[in-house]
Amino acid sequence: MAHCNENYLNLQGAYLFAEVRKKQEAYKAAHPDANIISLGIGDVTQPLAPVVIEAMKKAVEEMGHVETFRGYGPEQGYLFLREAIAKHDFQDRGCDISPDEIFVSDGAKCDVGNMQEIFAESDIVAITDPVYPVYVDSNVMAGRSGKYVRGAYERFEYLPCYEECGFKANLPSHDPMIIYLCSPNNPTGSALTKKDLTVWVRYAQQTGSVIFFDAAYEAFITEDDVPHSIYEIEGAKEVAIEFRSYSKTAGFTGVRCGYCVVPKELMLETKKGEKISANQLWDRRQCTKFNGCSYIVQRGAEAIYTEEGQKQIQETLDIYRKNAAVILAGAKEAGLPACGGVNSPYVWLTVPEGMTSWDFFDFLLNEAEIICTPGSGFGPCGEGYVRLTSFNTPELTKEAVERMKKALAAR
Ligand code: PLP
Repeated sequence: MAHCNENYLNLQGAYLFAEVRKKQEAYKAAHPDANIISLGIGDVTQPLAPVVIEAMKKAVEEMGHVETFRGYGPEQGYLFLREAIAKHDFQDRGCDISPDEIFVSDGAKCDVGNMQEIFAESDIVAITDPVYPVYVDSNVMAGRSGKYVRGAYERFEYLPCYEECGFKANLPSHDPMIIYLCSPNNPTGSALTKKDLTVWVRYAQQTGSVIFFDAAYEAFITEDDVPHSIYEIEGAKEVAIEFRSYSKTAGFTGVRCGYCVVPKELMLETKKGEKISANQLWDRRQCTKFNGCSYIVQRGAEAIYTEEGQKQIQETLDIYRKNAAVILAGAKEAGLPACGGVNSPYVWLTVPEGMTSWDFFDFLLNEAEIICTPGSGFGPCGEGYVRLTSFNTPELTKEAVERMKKALAAR
C-alpha cells in the first residue's frame, strides 16, 4: 500500500467555517422562517464591472474564430496584462517592477500557498496571530511546522497582534527566514504604514529573511501613509515577494485571477552557499505545475486598468467602503470597540465583556439572526473578537447593523 504524506495528519480540522455552517444550519432547521444576514462571508456580492464583461465577451468571440483562437498561453501570463500591471500597479507608484517579475495566476490563494515550495523545508516560518489560515496550513503540509502542541505548532514563530499595538505584530525574535505579512489585514483590518513597513524591510535586510507580503486588500486603502505595495519601501525588492488578487478589487472571486511579484534582485542561498534567483525558481515551478490563467479572464483583468475600468471598480469598492463605515458606526453606537474598516473591508469587533468569540457568535445568531466569524478561529489572539465583513449589499448591511444594535440594547 502507498503511504500518505504524514504532514497532512498534522493539519488541524478546518474547524472554523465548518462550525459556522453547522450552527447556521441548526438555527435554520429550528427556525424555518429565519431571515439570516451574513456579515461573515469573505465573498463579494456586487457584479463585475461592465468593462470587464465587454472585454471578456470580446475575448470569447475571438476564441470562436480560427484566426484569433488562443490555446495554451504563457505560464507567466500574457504580456498585455503583465505590462498593464507593471505600469499601473507599480511604475505609476514609483516602484521599479518590470513585467518579467510578474506572474499571473488564477488567484492569490494558490500563489500564497505554493510560494513556500521554493524555500528549504528547514526554514523557520513566522506568522502573525490572528492569521489567514492558508499561510499556516501550506507550511504544515510542507513539513515546516513541527508538532501541534497546546494550540500551537512547535516550529512556527507566532507574532501576536494585540489591541494595544493596533493589532500589528512586533519583530520576531528567532530570525525566521520566511515572514508572512498581510496588509491591509485579514482578519483584523489593520494596515501597516510606510514607517511600519520600513521597519520590516530593514529587519529582513539585516537577517536575510524573505517577507511574503499579501496585499490582497490593497484596493481598500484610503489613508495616504499606507503603502499599496511593499516595493514603495526602498530595498524591498531584495527581500520581499508580493501577492495581489482581483477577487475583492474587481469582484473576481468566481472569475479567478491574481498575480505575484518575484523581483529579480531576490536571491536565495543553496546549501553550498551559492546564490540563486527566486524569480528563476518560481518561473521553473510555475512552468512545471501551472499552465496559465485563461486568456478570457486575463483580458477581463486588463480592462480594469483602463480609465473607465478604474472608475467602475471604484464605484463598487465605494459600496463596500460605505458598508464598512456603517458597521463601524453601528458598533460604536452599540458601545462595542471596533477597528479596521478604513483601509479594509473587515471590521474587527471586540465582543462584550464576559463573552468569548463563540458566545458572541451565538448571541448574534440567536438574538439578531446575523452571522459573523469568531476571531478565535484565526488564532489564539483572535479570542474576544469577531470579524464582520462589508461585502453584503448596502440594504442588508444596514439591516444587520440595526438588528445588532437592538439586540445589544435589549441585553
Ligand atoms: N489572501 C488573503 C489575505 C485573503 O483573505 C484571500 C481571500 O480571501 C486570498 C489571499 C485569496 O484570494 P484569491 O481569491 O485571489 O485566491
